[in-house]
Amino acid sequence: MARRAIVAANWKMNGDLALVDTMVSGLKSIKLQENVNVVICPSSPYLSALVVKAKAEKLNAAISIGAQNVSEHKNGAFTGEISTQMLQELSVKFVIIGHSERRSCYKETSTQIAHKVNAALIAGLTPILCIGESEAERATEQTETVLAAQLQPVIDEVGIEKFIDVVIAYEPVWAIGTGKTASSEMAQDTHQFIRQFLAQANESVAAKVPLLYGGSVNASNCEELFAQADIDGGLIGGASLQAEQFKIICSAAKGK
Ligand code: PEP
Repeated sequence: MARRAIVAANWKMNGDLALVDTMVSGLKSIKLQENVNVVICPSSPYLSALVVKAKAEKLNAAISIGAQNVSEHKNGAFTGEISTQMLQELSVKFVIIGHSERRSCYKETSTQIAHKVNAALIAGLTPILCIGESEAERATEQTETVLAAQLQPVIDEVGIEKFIDVVIAYEPVWAIGTGKTASSEMAQDTHQFIRQFLAQANESVAAKVPLLYGGSVNASNCEELFAQADIDGGLIGGASLQAEQFKIICSAAKGK
């Protein structure tokens, strides 16, 4: 099997210690298919509790903990920021970088996002690099241009060979938290474009990069989405806050 599947939970600024307990208890009994990783990304104050609880409950080794953001700087006077070293010390393995909410609410640029991906890779963290177009960009047929412009600065900074350790989440902005999912055909076409774009730089790396779909994935639509040739799992927001629904989504993922 060439490519692993990943289902990542993005709790955003939601959840509490009770959810940490419920999620770990819920995931204890999960049966994952072959070559699947699950990543839980809580708000940073809960990272430590989640790591401790997952260890105490001996969660399946295929389940990891991720952060929702990381600083591009090593350390210093950056109030409110979290460094790669801090995440490493907590045994965090993944980090979401460039989520559309970070791009729009906090004005993170593709250049800054490239610096963050580089910092994560140097620290041995797996970046989940988020890219996606707005509704207006989709309507004016700019999707491919936008995605290329989001990917290229990262390729330029870290080099295409390093993408072997990168996960990409394609999240159309208009589908995030709206209940409007891209059709499986539209999602597949866009994932295929992303893989072909990477393949122009390095075909064998492109064939191995897990490409996740994100945007209103739920227990009812996950199977069809994950069955698409270039969709290797999902980045899940709202539905990842409900243990039972999240378990169904994780169980639908399969390595390709
Ligand atoms: C997300 O937060 O990345 C996301 C895809 O959210 P939702 O699943 O709620 O659309």
